[in-house]
Amino acid sequence: ANKIPMTTPLVEMDGDEMTRIIWKMIKDILLTPYIDLKTEYYDLGLKHRDETNDQVTVDSANATKKYGVAVKCATITPNAARVEEYNLKEMWKSPNGTIRAMLDGTVFRTPILVKGITPFIPTWTKPITIARHAYGDVYRNVEMQVPAGSKAELVVTDADGKETRATIHDFQTSSGIIQGVHNLDKSIGSFARSCFNYALDEKKDLWFATKDTISKQYDHRFKDIFQEIFDAEYKEKFDAAGIEYFYTLIDDAVARVIRSEGGYIWACKNYDGDVMSDMVATAYGSLAMMTSVLVSPDGVYEYEAAHGTVQRHYYKHLKGEKTSTNSMATLFAWTGALRKRGELDGNSALMDFADKLERASIQTIEEGVMTGDLASLSKLPNKTTVDTETFLKEIDKRLVAML
Ligand code: NAD
Repeated sequence: ANKIPMTTPLVEMDGDEMTRIIWKMIKDILLTPYIDLKTEYYDLGLKHRDETNDQVTVDSANATKKYGVAVKCATITPNAARVEEYNLKEMWKSPNGTIRAMLDGTVFRTPILVKGITPFIPTWTKPITIARHAYGDVYRNVEMQVPAGSKAELVVTDADGKETRATIHDFQTSSGIIQGVHNLDKSIGSFARSCFNYALDEKKDLWFATKDTISKQYDHRFKDIFQEIFDAEYKEKFDAAGIEYFYTLIDDAVARVIRSEGGYIWACKNYDGDVMSDMVATAYGSLAMMTSVLVSPDGVYEYEAAHGTVQRHYYKHLKGEKTSTNSMATLFAWTGALRKRGELDGNSALMDFADKLERASIQTIEEGVMTGDLASLSKLPNKTTVDTETFLKEIDKRLVAML
């Protein structure tokens, strides 16, 4: 049969443990039989990161900047236990952190919805995408405990050495705590542009919220930067696409989110995004059904699953046991990347294939064939729990029928 050709390679970032096993299965069972798959391969498996002193992570991020689209497997972020397990030269930094910093990107997480698995919020019939600002605020804080009798001040020294001071608090009668946080106009601007671009891409409304009524300088700056960039660069494009940019106070936003039917992108400041993405993921049902894409302000895309390497299943796999690991989010990382590559290259056959593969995989679950994690959540009367490989083969049966 004729395979679908590709003109530009995808940047392929391989990873670790059970997701590395799934990675190969997806390619062998669902991709290479149908696509003349072109990738530029980077092995981000921990062993190879260690061998290259993590240079491979930097190289893969540079390749992503060059080609514009990458697909990434989950990777181990080393801790002390991993340094021992893999006999590492160093406790290498999180690859995701390195790549995100190099692309100056924002991460968008969206749940995959299937019939039979209903969100804990029954009105949520469409996915809510969370975009989390990944720089600054409390994640780059400086904090201190302050003894009674002290006075704490904010001091800013400008380029000419001139000081501006403001009292934070006079700790006369009680000891206490203080914290200094910052953000950068440039980073907030990149965050805003990534969000506006992604909203246009997805043809979805964009919501943004801060606590600007209380934080009249700090949070207000976020609100102003978003509005200025929107008015200057995006308003007309949003009007043409029939979508809306909507700003509100964070407390109003959470109330509206709970009452909503979903279907929009919710841009969150760093801490809000940290907390809300876990809440939203849990409410939709399963981490294994959460997709993730890193979008840079100049339109570079890196697709991945939101979950980790599923270590527990990997150790079972190594003992020769069959696992029932959910491959949906990893599969959707591939389809997302293939569709985007197709869009950029004007390759409609590739885009069509990505759509069909997604539909085939959703249909598989909706027909009652699923991995163990979903079987315990699904309300379908007849369902079969299958192992990792059987699930992919079941998708393939339905894909063949569609092709
Ligand atoms: P994990 O996401 O691998 O697992 C968390 C829990 O969810 C486990 O109970 C697991 O069984 C379940 N789960 C997750 N994905 C599943 C799937 N596809 N099918 C079935 N069950 C699934 O996270 P963890 O255990 O905290 O971390 C394991 C490793 O993954 C760590 O080394 C960590 O550094 C890494 N990690 C990588 C990324 C990434 O690359 N984006 C993200 C998170 C964690």
